[in-house]
Amino acid sequence: MDDVRRAGPHTRIIHGGQQADPETGAVSTPIYQSSTFAFTDADQGAARFGGKPGCKYTRLGNPTVAALERNIALLEHGCGALGAASGMAAINTVYLALLEQDAHAVVTDCVYGPTRTVLETEYARFGVQASFVDSSHPDNVARALRPNTKLVFVESPANPTLKLTDIARCADLAHRAGALLAVDNTFASPYLQNPLQLGADVVVHSMTKFINGHTDVVAGMIVAREEHVLERLRAVHVNLGGTMDPHQAWLVLRGIKTLGLRMERAQANARALAYYLQRHADVKWVNYPGLVDHPQHALMKQQMRGPGAIVTFGVRGGLETGRRLINSVELATLAVSLGGIETLIEHPASMTHAGVSAEERRKAGITEDLVRIAVGCEDYEDLEKDLEQALEKASREAAAGV
Ligand SMILES: *Cc1c(COP(=O)(O)O)cnc(C)c1O
Repeated sequence: MDDVRRAGPHTRIIHGGQQADPETGAVSTPIYQSSTFAFTDADQGAARFGGKPGCKYTRLGNPTVAALERNIALLEHGCGALGAASGMAAINTVYLALLEQDAHAVVTDCVYGPTRTVLETEYARFGVQASFVDSSHPDNVARALRPNTKLVFVESPANPTLKLTDIARCADLAHRAGALLAVDNTFASPYLQNPLQLGADVVVHSMTKFINGHTDVVAGMIVAREEHVLERLRAVHVNLGGTMDPHQAWLVLRGIKTLGLRMERAQANARALAYYLQRHADVKWVNYPGLVDHPQHALMKQQMRGPGAIVTFGVRGGLETGRRLINSVELATLAVSLGGIETLIEHPASMTHAGVSAEERRKAGITEDLVRIAVGCEDYEDLEKDLEQALEKASREAAAGV
């Protein structure tokens, strides 16, 4: 195929940046499980360290990791990508590369817990300031910008409130203020949203979630739109050491092949489950960007190709009944994380977002009764049946006070 960039989304996922192994013709990229690579002579070693292409040392680059980096860079329309040991390793590289002493960042208030905590606790020790704002209203981002703002960091859809941020607007605001925009695209995955095409400078992924999709790897990725930003990120990343391991990269290469198929199915399940929960008498509220009453349903249609596979809801009876519900599911698994083929259910206020203070959680809209369901690829009827029995059991127990 001449240019896989112009192919359809599934073809791009399967073939983007991939080629048969030049040595052996292996169709699946081999795991180059080697920490170092031999040079033919002193001149070749010196040339490679001087910037000529070629393998040197796995922390600086590895052929298996590079195959995955090419794939994600193509899917996200970036100039290149950097594999990371985890989503947080990717985010820390972005912070360390793009912030400096006394610099300021504007960040979505309801980001993934550690994305916020690390700024408040660790980067603050070095004089980095951060304003956490409800970025679903771009005016809040505009108001928070300061002369020393170097980075605007948004997560859209955000975890776990599923608030959306207008990426094009934020890119414009950041650029006018002389800052860069980074977007955590984990919840949408490159199949549903491409922030670099909307003007963002950097995209980060926790590939632990939808991209790998099989609940067996922790991994991250950074993608940049422009070469000079990528090179700045690379310089920090390879020295910081949170780089990706070749075996990890191979597992993600295997998982990502079905990203489109999994996303379509999980999203169809999530949509049906959101409608079901909305109609259920024991459910107080349902939040899903695919519902027309979601506050940013129009923005979802504008900047995403679908609403994704995460649904949040609150049951009547609040926190206590919610706890009974997550203790009563049988098919869904009570666990944090998301984006796997199996359905996971959790309670953010006591689990993923327990590290955020109660006051900050309230301000960010992470209510005590919020239950998050990361919908998987099971048969829809089985998922509905499971929630039906769990809701019934929870309300029966609540009424009996057991
Ligand atoms: C899980 C997650 C992260 C962190 O990724 P790890 O791979 O666990 O380090 C960051 N952002 C979002 C939105 C996530 O869901």
